[in-house]
Amino acid sequence: MTPHSHPSESHLIAYVTGDAEPQLRALLECHLGLCDTCSTAIALLSAPGGQWLVQTPPAEVPGDLFDRVMGRIQAQAPPAEVDPALPSAVRSLLPSQARPDWKGILKQGFRFVELMKDAPGGFGLYLVHLSAGTRFPLHRHGGLEEAVILAGGLADGEQRLEAGDWSTSEAGSAHAPRALKDEDCWLVARMEGGIHFSGWRGWLQTLAGSAS
Ligand SMILES: [Zn+2]
Repeated sequence: MTPHSHPSESHLIAYVTGDAEPQLRALLECHLGLCDTCSTAIALLSAPGGQWLVQTPPAEVPGDLFDRVMGRIQAQAPPAEVDPALPSAVRSLLPSQARPDWKGILKQGFRFVELMKDAPGGFGLYLVHLSAGTRFPLHRHGGLEEAVILAGGLADGEQRLEAGDWSTSEAGSAHAPRALKDEDCWLVARMEGGIHFSGWRGWLQTLAGSAS
């Protein structure tokens, strides 16, 4: 499978060298499971003497790193209770395999579960589910958000994102993505700095924040 949009080359290099923090690593594994192009790039980067690494000291990349990463991914056997559409990199992170702690957020048809919190790097990692046709309310990002579509599709402004696609929303950007109407959308998002709703939801968010 070849998605239309991919993580940056610097992310792939960070994955291979081990510089990617756990949230980024998990997000990249979600994409790699659905993208032959980036999986091939990772293999080239990881191979001893790989074509992108010839100018770097070979000691920086252990020769068995790719085998160890792939072994770890393959060792994560899927539990029977969890949605079979979820890749193993996500399933292994669910707080409770049988009953994940789903939350809603001011909107029917939308739910999420936190996969990693307060981990190094200041990023949270979330599994998000949007029912078919659900539009997520307009919101602005307090920091960088990167996401991988796992299943279904998302219309985001001019963009149409499908399984495997990598999405980047810069700090300060605003959008109101909508799940395509014929299929539920599952995605994993790595987010920094939270999100801020527009309109009446923003007022509610402010009130909720000042009350807590
Ligand atoms: Zn890719």
